[in-house]
Amino acid sequence: MEIQFSVVSNEIVPVVLANEAAGAVVTFEGRVRNHNDGRGVDRLFYEAYEELALSEGNRILTEAERRFDILKIVAIHRVGLLEIGDVAIWMQALSSHRKAAFDACEWAMDEIKKSVPIWKREDYSEGNPEWLKGESIVSADTDRYDRQIRLPEVGCDGQAKLHAAKVLVVGAGGLGTPAVEYFVRAGVGHITVVEPDFVDVSNLNRQISYGFADVGRLKVDVLHRRVQDIDHSVEFVPVAEKLDEINVEALVASHDLVLDCTDDFAAKYLMNDACVGAGVPLVTASIHRWQGQILVVDRGPCLRCLLPVPPPTFCVGTCEEEGILGTVAGFFGILQANEAIKFLLGVDGGLSDTFLAVDLRDYSVLRINRPVRSECPICSTGQMTSLDSDIEVELCTVVGGAGIVFVDVRQTPSPQELMDLVTDCVVLGSVEEAVERGAEQIVLVCQRGRTSLRRAFCLRDEGVRNAYSLVGGIDRLMKERDA
Ligand SMILES: [Zn+2]
Repeated sequence: MEIQFSVVSNEIVPVVLANEAAGAVVTFEGRVRNHNDGRGVDRLFYEAYEELALSEGNRILTEAERRFDILKIVAIHRVGLLEIGDVAIWMQALSSHRKAAFDACEWAMDEIKKSVPIWKREDYSEGNPEWLKGESIVSADTDRYDRQIRLPEVGCDGQAKLHAAKVLVVGAGGLGTPAVEYFVRAGVGHITVVEPDFVDVSNLNRQISYGFADVGRLKVDVLHRRVQDIDHSVEFVPVAEKLDEINVEALVASHDLVLDCTDDFAAKYLMNDACVGAGVPLVTASIHRWQGQILVVDRGPCLRCLLPVPPPTFCVGTCEEEGILGTVAGFFGILQANEAIKFLLGVDGGLSDTFLAVDLRDYSVLRINRPVRSECPICSTGQMTSLDSDIEVELCTVVGGAGIVFVDVRQTPSPQELMDLVTDCVVLGSVEEAVERGAEQIVLVCQRGRTSLRRAFCLRDEGVRNAYSLVGGIDRLMKERDA
């Protein structure tokens, strides 16, 4: 992309724009003046979050050219210490007629002030310099982030990091709603929420973003409105779908961090595997009656290192079966958001290799140091490939073999669909059934062959040595059928 917006630390040297079609050239200079709000100003200091400032500045100027149909617009912003009379920003617009050039300049200046992360410190004649958020992303709502910017771990730089961050929240229930609201209030700029459910009256004791009037409405829609009420500048992407093996990888890969706010173990393992695979950190939590646990998966040990297989369903009740107090869900949802914000700011969380459980009835705390399990099939991909090079199979090598059964291991399995694709083969509903039947080879099939491969590694890890994964999964079977 052509560079239109630049940041310099010395005196601005204007570039000369020439274009024979330009009947009007409008040049604007923003200069340091000796007063503001009735106070004498001695000098200014500008600080930029440069990477984001450049991309945001270029975006605005490109948009100005398009919006006002002008020939060209460029701008240079100076940072560092500036004296009275120095040019802080220089802008030039070229167009056929003067009105469009004036309008484009004015619009672009407003947008740059509003959303380019450049902060200004005013040094007053009477002392007590102040950081002003009047010309930054935080300016639209004057002192919105003032209290957290004062923290040394946050500052202007940290606030810009939060503004640029993209987080994925899976589940908009008792954990997800407080987490999302705290993200918005902290200034996290981009939030995607995955949740297919509708608001039920029984959700209201803990799912703080919903009210009685919302019962029956799609949760992500209600949450979207709630987020806009708190801060309309947040980019909120509602995904009214269940997380499954088809959408998980793309969703995870397009975010900086994932928050697991579900009470579904299949979804937790799906997120764990996808996050480790994509190198995206995951903050996962579970709550059970008065107790909750939190785990941060980031390069260190993963969920499978701690719990190689999902606990049997009778061990983990849902809120519906077990009951839950709103405060317990809220506590852990906020704890998750807290860990996520620390991660985005680059503050060491202290949980990267620790599993933390807190009982809110008697305040007992359990911390377990989790090592990476050397035989974890997710954390040690390289190792498992060499050990089990025969784990992936092609349809042509297994079809027709006696004692071979296929199992659909997708999040939402469709044995019938699989049966149609692997005609004359035995398709069973679950791995357990295949093991019970004494199958010689258990061939796992998923959408693209990734989940099935991970599942097969995990099964072998658990002692099911005859588990295999079908290369390419359902997608490839369909392609071969249609070819
Ligand atoms: Zn692991």
